[in-house]
Amino acid sequence: MKAILDHVGIAVENIDVALAFYRDALGLEIEAPEEVRSQSVRAHVIPAGQSALELLEATAPDSPIAGYLRKRGPGLHHITLRVDDICAALDHLRTRGVRLIDDQPRPGAQSALVAFIHPSAAHGVLVELKQSARPSSALASKRMAWGDLELVSVHDGLFRLDGGAMFGVVPRPLWEVEAPPDERNRILLGMRPLVVSADWGRMIIDCGAGDKMDAKQRDIYALDRTRHLDHALADAGLTADGIDIALATHLHFDHFGGATSRADGALKPRFPRARYVIRAAEWEEATHPHERNRASYLPDDFVPLRDAGVVDVYDDDRTIRPGVRVVRTGGHCPQHQVVFVESAGKTAVFTADLIPTTAHIRDAWIMGYDLFPMDTLAFKKRFIREAIDREYLIFFEHDPLIAAGYIREDKGRRVVEQVL
Ligand SMILES: [Zn+2]
Ligand SMILES: [Zn+2]
Repeated sequence: MKAILDHVGIAVENIDVALAFYRDALGLEIEAPEEVRSQSVRAHVIPAGQSALELLEATAPDSPIAGYLRKRGPGLHHITLRVDDICAALDHLRTRGVRLIDDQPRPGAQSALVAFIHPSAAHGVLVELKQSARPSSALASKRMAWGDLELVSVHDGLFRLDGGAMFGVVPRPLWEVEAPPDERNRILLGMRPLVVSADWGRMIIDCGAGDKMDAKQRDIYALDRTRHLDHALADAGLTADGIDIALATHLHFDHFGGATSRADGALKPRFPRARYVIRAAEWEEATHPHERNRASYLPDDFVPLRDAGVVDVYDDDRTIRPGVRVVRTGGHCPQHQVVFVESAGKTAVFTADLIPTTAHIRDAWIMGYDLFPMDTLAFKKRFIREAIDREYLIFFEHDPLIAAGYIREDKGRRVVEQVL
């Protein structure tokens, strides 16, 4: 079994006295506390490289931490080891007769799975095993009502892009905490199109990378489509036939590659009944690529659509269908746009490559891929302020774990409250 030390939990009697030592005397930085209501515990996390210390404070007399303090006094409460496969780890321990507290893993914070080993088996130390949330389980189709509309977050599998390129000028020591890179420096990303259903029909916004990549491209991008858009649509009770409109935020392969597919050697529109709605100037960009964007615009993704006569173009920001409105952001590429989905006074925004993952909610965390990063910054600063103040539900197209959430501000620090 391979395990990484995730954190060390320390039960504290008086948090102010504990902070006087850990924060003031040692000079360590402490994150904003996290409340685990079900356990009546407040956790103060102190990052320490790949691991962390966790100061645990009881918030009610019946909290397990309060019980521990009464029995044993303050001090080391537990250590947490991160494993790849918690079920396999528990099986392994069982066959060796190790006494467990939890026979089966149970849900922990941040959709992780956790299980405790009895301290008597671990020489007096309470050991927690933890398996981080699996992207595969985060790739379920998720449905919600949105005023008169219905939203279904779907996915087209996972891929990886260079971590440095995903975070631009942000140094690796900062981004690697949010998005751990693999041995080729790539970070895991999702592709999450959004389906909007209304009385006017059913629209898919972006449609993933699709199935046309050759072996070399699949290797470069670590494309993992074990579960892909067809599965995701089926999970939601939908089919490609049932899509009436495919709307592109822009024509990069990881957003609109899924618009075409190969059938009997020929490239065909992926959604047989759909109109494909594309900004005219983006069509021009994509069909006249330059050295800097050529790798992102693959003609097989969109030229067959024109040949099939299924493309509708438009010029400016507009309402595409009642409740669905596009707004050009520029920055990432000149015609990049986000999509506002509005009904009954509620606003959701599909932000595409403006805020590709939840790590990108900081203004300056802007992709190195962006052709005009200062334009991204200007739009993003204004937009995120508005999103916080007006409570927009934000869809993160490339986040491997979280499909959508609200951006909240807590003492100047931004966090995402996950909704889907
Ligand atoms: Zn893009
Ligand atoms: Zn992208």
